[in-house]
Amino acid sequence: MRIAIGQIWQEQNTFSPMTTRLSDFEQNGLYFGEAILKQFSGSNELGGFIRAAEDEDDIKLLPTIRAFAWPKGIVKKKTYEKIKEEFMNHIKKSLPLDGILLSLHGSMVAEGVCDVEGELLETVRKDLSLDIPIAISLDLHANVTEKIVDNTVFIEAYHTCPHVDLFRTGYKTAKVFFSVLKKDIDPAPAYVKMPVITPVRLHNTNQGPLKKIFKLIEKIERKNDVISASFFPVQPWLDVPELGWSVAVYTRSDGAHAREYVEEISHLAWKSKDKFFTEETPPERAIEEARKMKRGLMVISDSDSTTSGAPGDNTCILNELITRKVNYPALLSLVDPEVVEKAIRAGAGNKITCEIGGKLDTMHCYPVKVTAKVKTITDGKFNLDGGHIGKLSIDMGKTVVLEAGSISILVSARSGPVYEQTVYKHAGLDPEQFRVVVVKSPVGFRKAYETVAKKIVLADCPGFSSSNLDLFTYNNIPRPLYPFDKVDNWKKIKTERRSNCPNSTKTGSKST
Ligand SMILES: [Zn+2]
Repeated sequence: MRIAIGQIWQEQNTFSPMTTRLSDFEQNGLYFGEAILKQFSGSNELGGFIRAAEDEDDIKLLPTIRAFAWPKGIVKKKTYEKIKEEFMNHIKKSLPLDGILLSLHGSMVAEGVCDVEGELLETVRKDLSLDIPIAISLDLHANVTEKIVDNTVFIEAYHTCPHVDLFRTGYKTAKVFFSVLKKDIDPAPAYVKMPVITPVRLHNTNQGPLKKIFKLIEKIERKNDVISASFFPVQPWLDVPELGWSVAVYTRSDGAHAREYVEEISHLAWKSKDKFFTEETPPERAIEEARKMKRGLMVISDSDSTTSGAPGDNTCILNELITRKVNYPALLSLVDPEVVEKAIRAGAGNKITCEIGGKLDTMHCYPVKVTAKVKTITDGKFNLDGGHIGKLSIDMGKTVVLEAGSISILVSARSGPVYEQTVYKHAGLDPEQFRVVVVKSPVGFRKAYETVAKKIVLADCPGFSSSNLDLFTYNNIPRPLYPFDKVDNWKKIKTERRSNCPNSTKTGSKST
């Protein structure tokens, strides 16, 4: 059997001022055709597809495109069209096909297209008149839409956050899909959309409400008639018409059973929705608490999460550290290509005075003046060897380490995975030697830091991944939607759905 495979993966934050361009995909490596098989064998969802095909003796994979970009603002129209064109051309070249197997994120938004994944799937089927099955894997933060459901025979999502089961997800998606194509199983789907979004900081499958929901999913997946169950607590910073949580269940034959399981999962999820809100710590209190700590590491998660599409140059914590004249070792990162260039011109060992950060996120913060020694200069390239979001080759552009008193600042030309210790370690900094380390990640950082941190603080900083969803101006979401509206009986409500899409000139959150 001939199966086309591919990956088009980016998490959008439609409020972010940073639009996504082709260079954002190129930064992480755009791969086409056979190169995909060589590059991704053994890792991530594509590796799972490849391994599952190796288990069979009659599957030929036809690789199309792998386009991965770091979470950011809306995709430029031209960029999306280019990726779509490449994908479609590779599909056409691969014909005849028995099926298409894709790894998608599920929250992509391009200018004028607020459901990129749904549109891509529909286009493949309609424009190419391809009446063949399609199966996909998704991030659990996917915003699952009607188009996505209508154009697929099977969807499998990550069951973990931090996301550490990418290979498993890919492998299972492929295994089930191959069984469908061989007519060994005929999945009976059930799906529900729920009028809820919540902040992401408690989207942690190892504790709290999400742990309970995934325990139930595990229990349901152990039943003989169940192929798969997925819960999607969705990326909330999306101003799109079908925004909301989703549940999807596939059983072996009986759709009524699938609907019962969807009912059971969505019932527990609905009951748990308030538990996804937690009190956060004012940054000034965190900074003072760290002063009182005699030893150990405090990890501060701010609201400028680069894994949630925020720009990565928010100065909220830096400003507090400087204002409060801390004398303990503190480590943080900022995106600022101007300062990187200035530091490189000055050279390692020399001092510079600069206004740093606050140039991309001009809504929630300001540049902060620092005088600092240029300690290290790197090319910003390194590899992530697993952990949250799997194995990745990272290129943050030219990167420098500045030392301003006891504060070390990793300044990069582009944003990167500031949930991993490797981001700092590649520049010779050991996060565990600091009193405070700032991570730009709401949950994913826990994989790298939970076992070494004495204290984890969720800081209440304004930013493009703030947990305070009231800060954002949503114009296109369905109503009613919890937490913005009171929803008494979610199954009986009549949802009013907008038909507009956000565009890159109208993004932003309410200024604070
Ligand atoms: Zn996610």
